[in-house]
Amino acid sequence: MGQLLSETFFIVLYNRVYSPLLNSGTQAIVATKCGVRMGEKAVVIYSGGMDSFTILQRAYKEGYELYALTFDYGQKHKKEIRYASAVCDELGIPHRVIDITAINQLLQSSSLTSDMEIPEGHYEAANMKSTVVPNRNMILLSLAIGYAVDIGASKVFYGAHSGDHAIYPDCRPDFVHAMNKVAKLANYEPVDIVTPYLNSAKTEILADGLSMGLDYGKTWTCYNGRDKACGKCGSCVERLEAFAANNAVDSLEYEQA
Ligand SMILES: [Zn+2]
Repeated sequence: MGQLLSETFFIVLYNRVYSPLLNSGTQAIVATKCGVRMGEKAVVIYSGGMDSFTILQRAYKEGYELYALTFDYGQKHKKEIRYASAVCDELGIPHRVIDITAINQLLQSSSLTSDMEIPEGHYEAANMKSTVVPNRNMILLSLAIGYAVDIGASKVFYGAHSGDHAIYPDCRPDFVHAMNKVAKLANYEPVDIVTPYLNSAKTEILADGLSMGLDYGKTWTCYNGRDKACGKCGSCVERLEAFAANNAVDSLEYEQA
């Protein structure tokens, strides 16, 4: 913990004090010698959930100058946005919350954003398809890549993982690889889409976060945005299984034990 704090202090000191005094070439040399990405700008699509929380923390630890981006697309679990803001405040990371609810005038078929009931059970179940927001990640990535170009960031971190492959087509490797090619074609400045957990299960992502000493009580994943997590929706079920597989206890409060 002490080492993490001193590393964090050094990275913050470098990014906030020394880096602005150096030209970009010198920044790159210093960053390379230090073995971390100091002064390299990156955008993180940060929902406030477990996966993007872990990515944000990992990238922060590696020394990126992070810009967090959260989308309000009319999700019922809007509470996750407050969790995202609190973490960014704590780490001193600039955080933009962008209201894209207007897209729901076109996209009304998902239970995440409409009056439809949120289904319970596993992600693999057929009824979970109702949680798919059409083309969501392509829309979000497109906006994030535009933001990255605008602020001179070379990377967009995004939390696709293998657990989502079954029902969310835009979380699959084929989509991510193709989108990366499109990002390079669409702009003069190259932007890489980085998906550190593309082939990892939720259990492995959690294991990585726990190895960094992260507190997942600072994340919200439940699709129902009530006071406490429901413990029954696909997102809660997957989260609880990941904690069980890691022999760890989730510090988040649930409606039922
Ligand atoms: Zn839930």
